Amino acid sequence: MLIVTKPGVSKEAFDSLLKEIKAKGYTPHVSQGESRTLIGAIGSPPTAELMDHFRALAGVDQVIRISKPYKLASWEVHPEPSVVSFTSGKTGNGYFMVAAGPCGVESRQQLLEAARYVKENGGQMLRGGAFKPRTSPYAFQGLGVEGLELLAEAREATGLPVVTEVTSPDLVGVVAQYADVLQIGARNAQNFALLKAAGGSGKTVLLKRGMSMTLEEFLMAAEYVLSEGNNNVILVERGIRTFEKATRFTLDVSAVPVLKAHSHLPVWIDPSHAAGKREYVLPLALAGIAAGADGIIVETHPNPKEAKSDAAQQLHENEFAELMRRVTRLLPALDKKMLVGA
Ligand code: PEP
Ligand code: MN
Repeated sequence: MLIVTKPGVSKEAFDSLLKEIKAKGYTPHVSQGESRTLIGAIGSPPTAELMDHFRALAGVDQVIRISKPYKLASWEVHPEPSVVSFTSGKTGNGYFMVAAGPCGVESRQQLLEAARYVKENGGQMLRGGAFKPRTSPYAFQGLGVEGLELLAEAREATGLPVVTEVTSPDLVGVVAQYADVLQIGARNAQNFALLKAAGGSGKTVLLKRGMSMTLEEFLMAAEYVLSEGNNNVILVERGIRTFEKATRFTLDVSAVPVLKAHSHLPVWIDPSHAAGKREYVLPLALAGIAAGADGIIVETHPNPKEAKSDAAQQLHENEFAELMRRVTRLLPALDKKMLVGA
């Protein structure tokens, strides 16, 4: 339930309200408004009697049932758009970010070269998988901790924060030691133990939509991270499975306005995994941005034909540079800003 306090509630009344919420077995999530405070009291569905009990307490103005199954992800509990900030920019509420880099970290030279031109062309975050969730157990699985060390070196060299995938709960600790952002991939989007562990790490979580997930299920997955007390979650639409084979997945552009209608969280597009072919990456990125995305995550490789994973979809350096030019030209038409060094 959502408890709205009266304007100018005393600290004493507020503290005793929080205590009472906990005493009844609920977890309070406080959201500070201009003149009043919203408290999301998260737990089992409240009875009418319990809601009346809270209505009668000092300092309480309204008690409202949260209608959605996801609570902390909803506008009801968090009426302002969330903004996630980094040393290199921010995303949400009109701020746009680009994360880019290779699908997988393959070598020092490959990663540092990609990091150099991502930075030079205005990218604000470096991506690269060290632990790769591959369909085949015989395919390149990533460099593991060595890949994390290379990502940290690339961050040192460029100042770009790094995002990398974590594939199991027991890896969260080590990935969080190196990465700025933990990516949870499409194949793990409903790995609830992983979502909780990533939420508990305190790191920003970039959560991809599962390829067969409804948007409600996607928001419920985000709810797992948020319910660990971690408010820094970025939702990524990366294409869903349909009957169409011309692209690897089908980018669900409508996910952007629908997610934004239901949630305050920033929404990004991953045009690379949706497209599966590099020639479709730019138009899909532009479509996602036009639909309202707060950021994109794009694959680019200094030598895509040598890539050990996702070779067909990774952009060449010049294609990435062209994408950045086009994105930069589109953003003002949408009243979006890309900040560097925010
Ligand atoms: C990736 O980002 O390299 C990746 C595996 O993405 P997804 O989980 O969206 O397939
Ligand atoms: Mn990939």
